[in-house]
Amino acid sequence: MTINQHWMQRDLEVLWHPCTQMKDHEQLPIIPIKKGEGVWLHDFEGKKYIDAVSSWWVNIFGHSNPQINKALSDQANNLEHVILAGFTHQPAIELAEQLVEITPPGLDKCFYADNGSSAIEVALKMSFHYWKNIGRSDKNRFISLTNSYHGETIGALSVGDVALYKETYEPLLLKTITAQAPDCFDCPDDMEWDEYCTLQFQHMEDTLCKHAHETCAVIVEPLVQCAGNMRMYHPVYLNLLREACDRHGVHLIADEIAVGFGRTGTMFACEQADITPDFMCVSKGLTAGYLPLAVTLTTNEIYAAFYDKYESLRAFLHSHSYTGNPLGCSVALATLELFKQNDTINSNCKLSAAMCAATAHLSEHPNVAEIRQTGMIQAIEMVKDKKTREPFDWKERRGLRVYQHALNHEALLRPLGNVIYLMPPYIITEEQIQHLADVITSGIEIAVK
Ligand SMILES: *Cc1c(COP(=O)(O)O)cnc(C)c1O
Repeated sequence: MTINQHWMQRDLEVLWHPCTQMKDHEQLPIIPIKKGEGVWLHDFEGKKYIDAVSSWWVNIFGHSNPQINKALSDQANNLEHVILAGFTHQPAIELAEQLVEITPPGLDKCFYADNGSSAIEVALKMSFHYWKNIGRSDKNRFISLTNSYHGETIGALSVGDVALYKETYEPLLLKTITAQAPDCFDCPDDMEWDEYCTLQFQHMEDTLCKHAHETCAVIVEPLVQCAGNMRMYHPVYLNLLREACDRHGVHLIADEIAVGFGRTGTMFACEQADITPDFMCVSKGLTAGYLPLAVTLTTNEIYAAFYDKYESLRAFLHSHSYTGNPLGCSVALATLELFKQNDTINSNCKLSAAMCAATAHLSEHPNVAEIRQTGMIQAIEMVKDKKTREPFDWKERRGLRVYQHALNHEALLRPLGNVIYLMPPYIITEEQIQHLADVITSGIEIAVK
């Protein structure tokens, strides 16, 4: 038995893996990782893999980053954790100050949670509770987009729309309202994305007209529906949405958990529409893939609706044990420092141009329907028929063939169904991007055979 197999066997005795049909591992090896270094993951048998998916979109400055490591160990030697109710600490304060500074103007209060789904739950509860506090307890529903994803806990799952994750649990979920998303995969060839998204906004306008009176908030993933096969839309949709939410008296929740921290080319995706949501949820890149930490930012106006004498029972009595964990906050501060030191937002422009150039030839491929890109997210959609865009049957699991091929060629790609995507750490080199593009090219050949 090889060392990898040894660990795999021990693993399967005791572990149940996320988002996995465990029976798959009768055929598919589990890969034990011994060490991470920059973009590389190393297994126990000397094989290595470029982490092209940033370990589920969290890792932005590479594995085992020396500067973040130092911040983490310094913090651990000083204060590993303290209750955040009645107590506070320097990293939580400084991180909140910096987030207020760099997020869109008007987001002035930070509420800590400890993972993305929890940050969504916080936003949903806060929005509902705000309306209740100002005498509008008739507002108790949420509007979200088709193909959206906001996490896996019951509330977050309720506002999502990825059938694979949601359908089974339908009887348990909140009854939400869904509006057609402005998915630019469906944009006609002779139309610009902004025009298409403007037209598509009518679905949201109609939904708001009908339901605003009973609705707390609209929740969206700005610009890219990541778990929803990396489908993208134009910022103009966010402008229209901000205006409509104000006009209809409904909150806007921006779920920037996946797209925040430079993913779409700007620090936050909302910047591209120059809007301020009423709630912004961040996590994932916040700690550069080190520790679970999340923040729900909101406005002073919403904060003020909870601020009263104790007996009024208006307070937001929500908490998680690891709220504002000092290790997480210190790592997040080190992450923000790296953005400044490396001028990351600007230097990413070169990398996203390299991603675009390296895969451009695939647009002619008879099984590629579309290559789409927003900043540091690039997706390549495989189809059975380029002309009709007929998809491959999902049961054929063609993306899985690309995954397996990539593992044999020093790359961790993890296609979403038939959509291959790159979402690499920002420290990747142009040579490594070229390598990934080569692996994708040969992987598609194998997958479509
Ligand atoms: C990952 C993700 C979440 C959930 O975050 P977790 O930390 O996995 O709970 C929510 N929204 C979006 C857009 C995400 O990509």
